Amino acid sequence: MESPYYLTTPIYYANDVPHIGHAYTTIAADAIARYQRLNGRDVFLLTGTDEHGVNIERVAASQGVSAREHVDRIARQFDALWSRLDISYDRFIRTTESAHHRAVLALWQRLQASGDLYRATYAGAYCARCEAYYQPDELDRGLCPVHALACDTVAEQNWFFRLSRYQDALERLVRDTDFVRPTSRRNEVLAVIRDGLRDFSVSRRQVRWGVPVPEGTDEVIYVWVDALANYLTGVGYPDDSATFERYWPADLHLVGKEIIRFHCLYWPALLLSAGLPLPRQVFAHGWLTKDGKKISKTTGNTIDPSALAAEFGSDAVRYYLLRATPFGQDGDYTRAGFLRLYNAELANAFGNLVQRATVLAHRHAGALSAEGAACGPELELCAEAEKLDSRVTAAFETLALHEAVAAVGEFVTAANRYLQVTAPWQLAGTGDARRLGVVLRHTLQAARLAARWYAPIIPRAAAEASRRLGVTRVEVGPPLFPRYSC
Ligand SMILES: [Zn+2]
Repeated sequence: MESPYYLTTPIYYANDVPHIGHAYTTIAADAIARYQRLNGRDVFLLTGTDEHGVNIERVAASQGVSAREHVDRIARQFDALWSRLDISYDRFIRTTESAHHRAVLALWQRLQASGDLYRATYAGAYCARCEAYYQPDELDRGLCPVHALACDTVAEQNWFFRLSRYQDALERLVRDTDFVRPTSRRNEVLAVIRDGLRDFSVSRRQVRWGVPVPEGTDEVIYVWVDALANYLTGVGYPDDSATFERYWPADLHLVGKEIIRFHCLYWPALLLSAGLPLPRQVFAHGWLTKDGKKISKTTGNTIDPSALAAEFGSDAVRYYLLRATPFGQDGDYTRAGFLRLYNAELANAFGNLVQRATVLAHRHAGALSAEGAACGPELELCAEAEKLDSRVTAAFETLALHEAVAAVGEFVTAANRYLQVTAPWQLAGTGDARRLGVVLRHTLQAARLAARWYAPIIPRAAAEASRRLGVTRVEVGPPLFPRYSC
């Protein structure tokens, strides 16, 4: 059996409907999953929703529904978006599942057994939107540094986790391995560690909607401990040890940069305490802005991924998000930029290549079997093809997703240039069937290769292109990417 590859998106907080940031992470995860499957790996892609916490209770109450009704509705909306964006997840986990409840308790018991939980009083700021405690120096003019909203002031007896005990182990992990990527995030995490890690509260009073602590102290387990444990539950912990041992530790946790503290400090520390193996890597991607401004529901500066997919197709959305911004950096969305990339690279380049290859092969089907020798232009194209394989592989292995897309795009350009140089439409007129046969076969091969490597990025169009470029029978169809006027 092929070697396993386990990757995860964060589970998305079910306080509100999905937005473009969720789509970005999930599309990237899906592209990586599809690439690894193409490589023969036994892939497990986990996504889902984070459904507990004080903020969920508040939002549900403000809408006059129960927390359960609220999270059911939100989970359905996430799932519908993933289906619209062709996300090939293997499991959609919800933290309100009983299997997850058991996993959280199993993890908690391990933390207790290692002596890392103790009682203490917490007093300070708590952002309900982040579900995170903040030290006074972490606040931005008294407000949550992520949401710029006022925090709750909390003072209560809680269970605390001895994060400080893992200070040295975490520093070594982050400094000496590829655990945190990209480098900018690693440096950020290292700076937090070197500042000194403080124990943190892992239970909450005043919240009902969560997993109750088993000690009966009338608290629920802190929602981030609950949420992080989903990566264990997703592959069978604690009930299905065969699946768990097959897929754990995760190869990759993809996250947005706002949650690196939880994934790069809390999570490995909890696992070390629990005596469970650590995931191999956490990769934090950047944030998107729209028209140079922060995306914000309050100002109405948003991008609806579902509406965009309805207008241009899921492939167009996937392509734009993976192509426009170097993966790991911040990016900016503009509609003009979206249309420009779409027309130039999907409609005019790839779509056009597939169209020309199928139309020519169909029109001159008789020449396809004519024997002939490859010349200069073919050798050049074959050299480009070889370069493509190694470039795409290297790009995906280092999660330079934009670079993988660019590599295929450059190959498509080379294939279109090959058609210009060899001009098969003229060869047909000269009656040189041997030469025409060589050119058509190379064109078809090049288009098939582009479709193969585009499959993780634009799976719908790539599958349709591969079908039309079939080895036994070539089929002509409507443009894969109709052009749009800007
Ligand atoms: Zn916040």
